[in-house]
Formats: sequence, structure tokens, C-alpha cells
Amino acid sequence: STAVPKTLTIGLIPGDGIGKEVIPAGKQILQALPSQYGLNFKFLDLRAGFEEFQKSGVALPDETVEILKKSCDGALFGAVSSPTYKVKGYSSPIVALRKKMGLYANVRPVKWVEGVGIPVDMVIVRENTEDLYIKEERIYEKNGQKIAEAIKRISENASRKIGKMAFEIALNRQHVRELGGSSLHKSPSVTVIHKSNVLSVSDGLFRETVKKVYESDPARYGSIEYKEQIVDSMVYKMFREPAQFDVVVAPNLYGDILSDGAAALVGSLGVVSSANVGDDFVIGEPTHGSAPDIQGKGIANPVATIRSTAMMLEFMGYQEPAAKIFSAVDENLKENKVTTPDLGGKSSTQEVVEDIIRRF
Ligand code: ATP
Ligand code: MG
Repeated sequence: STAVPKTLTIGLIPGDGIGKEVIPAGKQILQALPSQYGLNFKFLDLRAGFEEFQKSGVALPDETVEILKKSCDGALFGAVSSPTYKVKGYSSPIVALRKKMGLYANVRPVKWVEGVGIPVDMVIVRENTEDLYIKEERIYEKNGQKIAEAIKRISENASRKIGKMAFEIALNRQHVRELGGSSLHKSPSVTVIHKSNVLSVSDGLFRETVKKVYESDPARYGSIEYKEQIVDSMVYKMFREPAQFDVVVAPNLYGDILSDGAAALVGSLGVVSSANVGDDFVIGEPTHGSAPDIQGKGIANPVATIRSTAMMLEFMGYQEPAAKIFSAVDENLKENKVTTPDLGGKSSTQEVVEDIIRRF
């Protein structure tokens, strides 16, 4: 087209370890997008992480948050290493970033490679601000015994927001499917995870609120199939027949557990992407850590980051280039020739990036 390309400013936060090797892969992918999509990119390099903490005493500099808020349309976050010992004054910068940027949802798709392993093509939408993670714990003694309690807080507001996001993601996935690319699903569905047979008040509120969101807008959500699943039987079904799930929405703790379990369905951590999403900002993030065992070798799998880059675009409203990236990745994985050692291949990070780009 002859339209003037739009420039998007993307914050790059490599963090520690292989974060520094995979974030440049995301950058190259954006730079290589065909001009037909009408997008140009400007990149801002931002600081955060354990190394940054060791240098400056601050894991997440205020400047990083300010630049994200003032100047960026979206961002990519690599990884931060979590020291196994407790370090005074250090806390995870990604957790702080989610809070400061209002990123209340963690969205994690898990997709198989056609012909390899068990068929799965689902996305877990995890509420990220409340539930047991408010960390309101106390310990006291009664009759000479220690007793500990933790509060599980579920609010109507947060449940409504995450519910709405889940239904919107279901519609969006359907849209991306219609743009092409492989998928297990023909029509959208949303499964709500709960344990309200036991926790009828808290999980009951979550379940009812999400259901209300669904019922409130039949014109918009009518094409989506609505389902509910108790968390324990969800674990069983997710491992036995994961193909039946499309979008899964869960309170924080169940979402955390299901996300890691689901990642086990697809082989390597190096292919699992995520996005931290709020009302007006998104940060794409591979789900793996800083992988100190392979750091500096140039063999980190860039696929998780490349898929996270596509997710970032998707949530920014650019479905077409996102679909292009997803299908180039699927083709690379399906061919199974140019892959990194974690997938049994012999290729470098850079060779995988180039193999994906040549499929654009
Ligand atoms: P951290 O404390 O940062 O989480 P970790 O030691 O737990 O570090 P992870 O990054 O969580 O390491 O990775 C767990 C294992 O998976 C490691 O053996 C690592 O090499 C491997 N791995 C993780 N990500 C990738 C990747 N992108 N490519 C290849 N292997 C990976
Ligand atoms: Mg780890």
C-alpha cells in the first residue's frame, strides 16, 4: 500500500542471562516484518534485572518504568535470574513491573507442533493481582501449636476484568485463525476454572462474575462456547485430552499451576511464550528463566521470545503481522531442521531467527 508506515516504539528489557540473547531475536523479527503491514519500529533499551541490582542497587530503575509509560507502545522482557539465596533488598523486577504498569493478566498460549506429540492449542488467561498472592499471611499460637493462615481474596472487579479479557482473547484467536495458520479449533470456547464445590464464596464469586460477563453481551460473545471446570478435574483432562481446550481463564493460583503444567505438554521451555496484559499496555515475555547453564553459548532457543513478540503485536491490535510470525514459527518447528539443541537440533539462536524470517 502507499500509506505512510506507522512507527511503534518498543521498550526492550533483556534482563539477565539468555534474556540478552533472545531479546535481540524479537527485535530482528520486528525489523524484518514485510512492509505490507505498514509498520516501522523504534527501540529503546531499558535496564532491569539481578545484574542491574548488583551494579546499581536497584533491580527496576524508576527510569525504566517512566520510559515505558511515557514513550513506549509496548515492550519485550527477557528474563531475570532469581538468586537461590535470599538477597537483602532484591525483589523480582518483573513482578514489580506488572504492578506498576497495571498488567493484571498473564496470558500463556501452549501450542503443539503438528505431527509431534500430543495435540494441544490452548491459552491460559491467569488473573495476576489477587487471590492468595496478596500475601496477607499470619502466624499465631494456640494451645502451644503454631497455626498459619493466608487470605485468598477474590474481587468482583478483578474477576470481571479477567473474564472480559478471556472472552475477547477467544474472539481474537478466532480472528487470527481465520487469517490462516494451523489450529486445532474450529470455533471458540472459554473454560472457567474454579473450586467452588469447596470454596463456594471466593471461587463462587469468580465463577459467577465471569459467567455474568458472558451473559451480559450475547451479541458479542454468543459465538463462544461457555464451559466450567473444577480445577482438579481440569488437571486430569488437560493431560489426558488437552485438545478440547481453547481459552482457559483462572484465578491467580490455579492459573499459575495450570500454566506450568501446560508448558510440560510441549517439550521445551524454549518455545513457550507469554504476555503481561493491562488495559493499555502489554509486555511480551518468554516463560523461561535466565538459563545460566547455556548462557553465552549462542544456543538459546529464540522461539519463546519470537512468539511473545507476536503476542505483543496481537494485543496492540496488529493481528496480521502477528499471524504471519506465528505461522513462520509453526513452519520452522514442523520442518524440524533448523532448531536449537533443546529441541534436539544443532542450530544457533541466530540461525533459527534467520530461518523464521526467510518464511515471511
Ligand atoms: P532462573 O533462575 O533464571 O529461572 P533456571 O536455572 O531456573 O534460571 P530456566 O531458565 O528456568 O533456568 O531453565 C530451566 C532449564 O531449561 C535449563 O536447563 C535451561 O537451559 C533450559 N532452557 C530454558 N530456556 C531455554 C531456551 N530459551 N533455550 C534452551 N533451553 C532453555
Ligand atoms: Mg527457572
